[in-house]
Amino acid sequence: MNISDKDLLTKVSFLVKIERRAHFHLLEHLQEVQRRRLYADLGYSSMFKYLTRELKYSEGAAVRRVNTLRLSNKVPAVKKLIQSGELSLEVASKAQNFSQNLSPTKTKQILQKLKFKSNDEAKRILNDFTQGDTAAMPLRDIKKPISNSQTRVHLTLENKTLNLLEKFKAIKKFNSDEALLFLLNLGFEEIDSKIQITKNSKGTQGRSIPSNVKKEILKRSNYICEFKGCDEIKNLEFEHIIPFAKGGLHTLENIKLYCRTHNQRSAIKAFGQLKMDQYLN
Ligand SMILES: [Zn+2]
Repeated sequence: MNISDKDLLTKVSFLVKIERRAHFHLLEHLQEVQRRRLYADLGYSSMFKYLTRELKYSEGAAVRRVNTLRLSNKVPAVKKLIQSGELSLEVASKAQNFSQNLSPTKTKQILQKLKFKSNDEAKRILNDFTQGDTAAMPLRDIKKPISNSQTRVHLTLENKTLNLLEKFKAIKKFNSDEALLFLLNLGFEEIDSKIQITKNSKGTQGRSIPSNVKKEILKRSNYICEFKGCDEIKNLEFEHIIPFAKGGLHTLENIKLYCRTHNQRSAIKAFGQLKMDQYLN
């Protein structure tokens, strides 16, 4: 590289400014993608899946961006702090994890203390806020894939739950996997049995979907979102392809089991973005 030492340092400072400006614009555009639930059209049920699977961010980089977006939704000034370099994505992400249950005012006070702080300094400042109260930090299950068919999981259980699980394993002579599989199968049988078959249902009358149709759809979907390419298993809801209000029938062909994102995207398409903005955050 044919450049003097002085010019090289000047150029790097300049490029860092451009990088931060790009972070600002990217966050603004991702916020709009989120508002429109646009990743739903690509088969993704969340911003995180869109960032990792479509845009090929690492999981850590995607989490930092998702967290920073959430923080900007609560405190819009965050994007400017990122652009000016007062807040890094890492520190913004930590601030979001810490403040998710706090008010915007309290969050702003915390952000003031995190300006120009390194990752480690931010960690210490946030620890001081909790004064060692670990209950303030959410405990998450940790999953680490160890082969194509097995995952090591760190769970946090209440002691009484753990005692019952150990007792059950001892009585049935099960390992943890066998015990959980047995109990989960029982749980799913209970879910299925609660959906009673409605007698004499023609499947087209009344506002509510007949339970025999629901049962068939749950079986067909295997409790996974039915939008092409989506693998979401949480927050599933029934969605009429032709809305019931527009004459759509309660038939297997006209009803899909969709995750919340795919239901929301369908609603945006059917009723318009402006109308749906009041219901979506
Ligand atoms: Zn979905």
